[in-house]
Amino acid sequence: MARKITDKCISCGSCADVCPDGAVSEGRDTYVVDAARCKDCGKCEKNCQEDAIVADRKQPAPASAGAAPAAGFTGASAVRAR
Ligand code: SF4
Ligand code: SF4
Repeated sequence: MARKITDKCISCGSCADVCPDGAVSEGRDTYVVDAARCKDCGKCEKNCQEDAIVADRKQPAPASAGAAPAAGFTGASAVRAR
C-alpha cells in the first residue's frame, strides 16, 4: 500500500528529501506520492511535521493473472481404417 499526501501539506519538501525511492515530488498544490514508486517504508510519514501523509487505502490491489487460457484441443481424431 502506498502513501498519499493530504491537503494538510504545506509543501515544505522534507518528505521528498527523505524518500529513498524518489517517489515524492512537488505537485500543483501539495507534494504528491508516485504510488508506482512508493515502497511503503514510512520515512516520509514519520518526517512530516504536519501529519499530512497517510496510507493510501484506495490503491487497487495488484491485478490478478487474468483469464485462464482456454483448454487446448486434446481429443485425438479417430481415424477408422478400413
Ligand atoms: S513533509 Fe509533509 S508538509 Fe512537508 S511537503 Fe511533505 S507532506 Fe507536505
Ligand atoms: S513511504 Fe517511503 S517510499 Fe513511499 S513515498 Fe514515503 S518515503 Fe517514499
